[in-house]
Amino acid sequence: MNSHNDSFSHEKKMSSPGKRGHIFIISAPSGSGKTTLCRALLQHMPDLFYSISYTTRSQRNGEKNGVDYYFVSVEEFEQGIKQGKWAEFATVHGNYYGTAAETIDQCIRSGHDILLDIDVQGTEKFLKHYPESVTIFILPPSIDTLRQRLEKRGTDTPAAIERRLRDAEKELARKDLYRHIITNDHLQQAIDDLIAVVTRYR
Ligand code: 5GP
Repeated sequence: MNSHNDSFSHEKKMSSPGKRGHIFIISAPSGSGKTTLCRALLQHMPDLFYSISYTTRSQRNGEKNGVDYYFVSVEEFEQGIKQGKWAEFATVHGNYYGTAAETIDQCIRSGHDILLDIDVQGTEKFLKHYPESVTIFILPPSIDTLRQRLEKRGTDTPAAIERRLRDAEKELARKDLYRHIITNDHLQQAIDDLIAVVTRYR
């Protein structure tokens, strides 16, 4: 079972509540503050599991394997595709990202609610298998704000930032796929809104 709490690393104890868990999907263009919002939500709801994705992108400074992501090779990821390991996967900003089907199945069967941070393409595929999922889109105030945040973050090359901004425009065009939309203009307000949405279903 993969899970995150406020430290993004804590393995949570399983209980057997005898109900199926809810699935919450959060998507947002890169630089929208989604990671900060997810952390705040998980800190507020320590019993909410976090689905740790697999990716072939290189590990950034400060990221931990098995905590932020499982960092795997392209060969390993493609082997997973052949074996049907992924509940959904997508190529995002030129790298593979995927959610292990086993993580989701274990979680919902044991009655635990789970949070996924995946992109728009992944959400679309995922909804085919789990249409009852609660989908939430985080809207940045503007593309300019995204650019400023990505530049300030300093984790991407200028070319990678341009690619992320182009992808952001495509993602913004698909926001109607989502049941809830939260604008991250003021962080604390966005955190409160996110907590309120998730609380409504739990
Ligand atoms: P980053 O490289 O900035 O951590 O993430 C890039 C994008 O990949 C984000 O939009 C994030 O939501 C998405 N992503 C992360 N994990 C997954 C996953 O398992 N599946 C899909 N489809 N997208 C993912």
